[in-house]
Amino acid sequence: MMLLPLYALAVWFVCFRLRRMWVGWFALVAAVSLVVALVFVYPHLQRWFTGESTRWSSFQFVMWGEAIMVAVVGVFILCLPREIVQVPCRKCGYELEALAAEAGNVRCPECGTERAVKV
Ligand SMILES: [Zn+2]
Repeated sequence: MMLLPLYALAVWFVCFRLRRMWVGWFALVAAVSLVVALVFVYPHLQRWFTGESTRWSSFQFVMWGEAIMVAVVGVFILCLPREIVQVPCRKCGYELEALAAEAGNVRCPECGTERAVKV
């Protein structure tokens, strides 16, 4: 019973580590494809082991839910920013760390806000 939540957490962890990278998107597509493949392989396995198969079972319903949940949360995690801004512009959030260290409270080069560093 814990396999599906653990699988989702493992995929999301990988997505978090690889966020904003192409390899992260490949990992998410591979992980969701595995779950979707199980949905389509399951009736064949069921027929092989029990001799009969149902077109739509609760297992398949749960696996579609798992696939959708892993995909939606995975996409959200992959879109999270990779780096945390140390000295953000107070208006647009642009990184001002190097400029602020050099010249103090500067004008933001991105949006033009004067004294952009939050004090
Ligand atoms: Zn700005």
